[in-house]
Amino acid sequence: MGKRYYCDYCDRSFKDDVEARRKHLSSLQHMKNRADHYCVFKDPETILREEYQKTPCKRYMTVRDCAFGLGCRFSHYTPQMIWELERLVAMKKSRDSTSSKNSNWPNSEDIIKEYLENVTDSNDSEEFNYPVWSAPSQLADLPANLPASLWPATHEGLVNSNFSKWG
Ligand SMILES: [Zn+2]
Ligand SMILES: [Zn+2]
Repeated sequence: MGKRYYCDYCDRSFKDDVEARRKHLSSLQHMKNRADHYCVFKDPETILREEYQKTPCKRYMTVRDCAFGLGCRFSHYTPQMIWELERLVAMKKSRDSTSSKNSNWPNSEDIIKEYLENVTDSNDSEEFNYPVWSAPSQLADLPANLPASLWPATHEGLVNSNFSKWG
């Protein structure tokens, strides 16, 4: 019995000669198995980056069957799968950032600082839509000599107030 060439990707062996080997390595089935093999070890970020650049595979999207498998140059990922990948990446990132910063739980000062920073951030962003609110009309004709603390709150007064610092 002659020497056999065993292909790990395809999990099959065949007679080892140059011609047979070249034929196998260039076969569609082998390229598909090889691509599938490496895709298993890719991290979600890499897959996402690659899939963003591809257009959807028409064949795969219609009949769910494309001979190129994961080696196809068009995307076999549905929007649902992309969405799940994005979630996975986001989860991984948040886990990485919390574990790399320090191994202990963040202390309360950091949490408060971060919270206040976020509060000012959202106030600064121009896209934020302030809910329009006005005082009930019954409150409009109050005596003018009321102390300031008893004046009805106005929409402008609430929007312009600055809560970024606690006094
Ligand atoms: Zn093979
Ligand atoms: Zn395809």
